[in-house]
Amino acid sequence: MTDMNEYDHYETYCRSLGDCIDFSYCRATGGTEPCGKILDCWIGRLPVSEFLQTHYSPELLERLFAPQLGRLERLFTIAERVDKNIARKPAAS
Ligand code: SF4
Repeated sequence: MTDMNEYDHYETYCRSLGDCIDFSYCRATGGTEPCGKILDCWIGRLPVSEFLQTHYSPELLERLFAPQLGRLERLFTIAERVDKNIARKPAAS
């Protein structure tokens, strides 16, 4: 089992921040939660999948890596909600 701090000294260029940062930042960007891009940024450089599964709960990982809705999907979701609200309202007389 790896220590939580084992890879903290590894550095990478962060496209979000536009600067070089340590793995320690990536594993706790939300204070206690890893960055949602941690797999993309570190895969192939560190055993990041194993690290995540060792140190974080399955629930947290599922929430963190749940597929984000694309813009078009979000628009359709909002439109469907509006349609349902309109259908529920009684017709004006
Ligand atoms: S995991 Fe997040 S914080 Fe770390 S380099 Fe990638 S985008 Fe930046």
